[in-house]
Amino acid sequence: MTKDKEKVRVRYAPSPTGFPHVGNIRTALFNWLFARHHRGSFIVRIENTDVARTAEGAVEVILDGLRWLGMDWDEGPDIGGDFGPYFQSERLELYQAAAKRLVEQGDAYYCYCTPQRLDEMRAEQTRLKQPPGYDRHCRQISATNHVLKFISGSRRVIRFRTPLEKQTPFNDIIRGEVTFENANIDDFILLKSDGYPTYHLASIVDDHQMQISHILRAEEWLSSTPRHLMLYKALGYKPPQFAHLPMLLGTDRSKLSKRHGAVSITEFQTQGYLPEAMINFLALLGWSLDDKTEIMSLKELVDNFSLKRVSQTAAIFNREKLEWMNGIYIRNLSSKELTRRLIPFLERDLPPEVKRPISVEYVEKITPLIQERVKIMEEVTGLTDFFFNGQPEYQSDLLIVKKMNRELAGKALETSLLKLRRLPAFNEETLETMLRPLAEELELKVGQLFGTLRVAVTGRTVAPPLFQTMTALGKERCISRIRVAITKLKEMPEETSNS
Ligand code: GLU
Repeated sequence: MTKDKEKVRVRYAPSPTGFPHVGNIRTALFNWLFARHHRGSFIVRIENTDVARTAEGAVEVILDGLRWLGMDWDEGPDIGGDFGPYFQSERLELYQAAAKRLVEQGDAYYCYCTPQRLDEMRAEQTRLKQPPGYDRHCRQISATNHVLKFISGSRRVIRFRTPLEKQTPFNDIIRGEVTFENANIDDFILLKSDGYPTYHLASIVDDHQMQISHILRAEEWLSSTPRHLMLYKALGYKPPQFAHLPMLLGTDRSKLSKRHGAVSITEFQTQGYLPEAMINFLALLGWSLDDKTEIMSLKELVDNFSLKRVSQTAAIFNREKLEWMNGIYIRNLSSKELTRRLIPFLERDLPPEVKRPISVEYVEKITPLIQERVKIMEEVTGLTDFFFNGQPEYQSDLLIVKKMNRELAGKALETSLLKLRRLPAFNEETLETMLRPLAEELELKVGQLFGTLRVAVTGRTVAPPLFQTMTALGKERCISRIRVAITKLKEMPEETSNS
């Protein structure tokens, strides 16, 4: 249970090692929803103490991902706050002081084991089929030996003196009572030989100093929690409450990874998922309102989010559901708003020959024609490029639709051209009123005439509704494309027909 009176302060603590994984963003989202629901604070802290794995530019990518999704933070690396700095690399003295204190209290000790000795120890453990872990070799070093080793300049780390008996139980908000045997936890490293802390030490020092009330993090960190509780106890800190979020799996029930397709939030953004659809989808990965409601606005999510309805069982990342949801959000946008969001994708993906900037007014005519069909915005360029390109490229025989031949198709196009030229107004109604009877006049099925015209004006056999498409294209473009189609037919070998 959450203690409602205590101010909720939660943190999202990414390690800037690359593009943020959607699982990691789901963790951020649950923290953010929890904070906003309780009118608490959402803090971003950058855990960059693993120098070798820190990737250049990763912090900005992570923050951009949060901004794109609309998750704002109250304290963080770029805006500061009362408990900064919010980069762990700028807080080394705090960790060093805590480690030193633990050594002085007898709760931690210096370890001088060389990497070579540790390798040998691991090999031996594997050979004897023993569980891996430090064998506590330096735990008993006498004070004199310490002084000697220190004077000789041996590299050393600081390890925690883990209790050898009893258990560490705790109450996880999602999982209930969880207990770990202390004897199974090795004397883990707190401070590395380069003076940098390990995740365990840095995490508890910061969570304490930043007055974090609840830790919501992925299940993979569950086994770190007894270590953290031991550290809280040794340092005399009051531990926060823990809630470990269920794992994310692919539809094949293996851990969600690149093998399953896009996994970084940046990729989803690039492909054209809407942030509001992404948020809705991520919120339902392990949480639900009532087992049936799927579409929820950000406000509804904030109003209703509660850890009580976070499940213990793994959540399945179902891409088809995400696409479906994105399609729903796309259809719910006004056509003007969808146009606004589509423009950057068209600017990015249309061929360079197409004049820039892309005309907003022109795209506004096209948007309603595809709004019902689009699931991901990056598909739009492929669906609409014929609106922008000069003359579409296509095989001439596509103009001869079912049961027609070259002459019939040619005649259909020539007659259409004449009538189109004479049309006083060029819009859906006038086109329909003119073209439907024309089919009869030419003794063609409506589908035959429209099919030929569709290929002539779009270069495709499948396109949005014909009259709307022609209206959006405009009279001049339609006429010039039909002319090209007539020439194409003339240039074809005579016997061509399509049955
Ligand atoms: N830096 C850790 C991560 O990348 C944070 C784990 C935690 O929330 O304690 O997920």
